[in-house]
Amino acid sequence: MRPMFYERITGACDVETGEVISIKEICGVRPLPGPISVWPLRRSRPKGKQRGHGSEMFKGQRRKDSNKFFMRYRYDVIWNHFRNKLIGLFNGRCFACDSPEGLQLDHHVPLIRGGRREPGNIVMLCFRCNQQKWDYLPDEFYSTDELAYLSPLLEQEAEILAFKFNEEHWVADPFRYLRDIGLSPLLINEIRTNPDHSWHVSATPPIQFVITAKD
Ligand SMILES: [Zn+2]
Repeated sequence: MRPMFYERITGACDVETGEVISIKEICGVRPLPGPISVWPLRRSRPKGKQRGHGSEMFKGQRRKDSNKFFMRYRYDVIWNHFRNKLIGLFNGRCFACDSPEGLQLDHHVPLIRGGRREPGNIVMLCFRCNQQKWDYLPDEFYSTDELAYLSPLLEQEAEILAFKFNEEHWVADPFRYLRDIGLSPLLINEIRTNPDHSWHVSATPPIQFVITAKD
């Protein structure tokens, strides 16, 4: 038999019934609501174009925006806690293709189109899909079904990530503060007692910290 090659497998047929099965069903990943039987066709990033159309101004804006966002959480140990919640919200997978690899935080409404890095405007995408999403607006990239699925997720995200670091509480008792935020007592104990831990918090003031990881 002559071998056949496909650019992308979009679905398959049940040999018994002839019914079309979507690739998402075949892979056993969460199905999107509605009768999606094929992988949505996506616009791809125009060849040779840079993010934010390569503008230096947007590069600076992106950095400033990102710093402002991470200052909400101030310390890696706190950001990690909220980042895990964010990953959990997206089932640890890329929203567009379900890959668990190379997850990144995508601006849902791109910076260049007026979106900000803020709770409710972040979608977990893998590196490949994030590249492909480029500077497209959500409705230029996602299907109507995907947008309908995404909308309540982003509302939940806005609630989950709506945290503002409280300097006063931190200075009064950092360990109690971390406990109140919801960090596990085991992790708190570890960063308290293990000076080699990268998030180690010294119990004696002054407490000094620097954010190292950004995403
Ligand atoms: Zn992806």
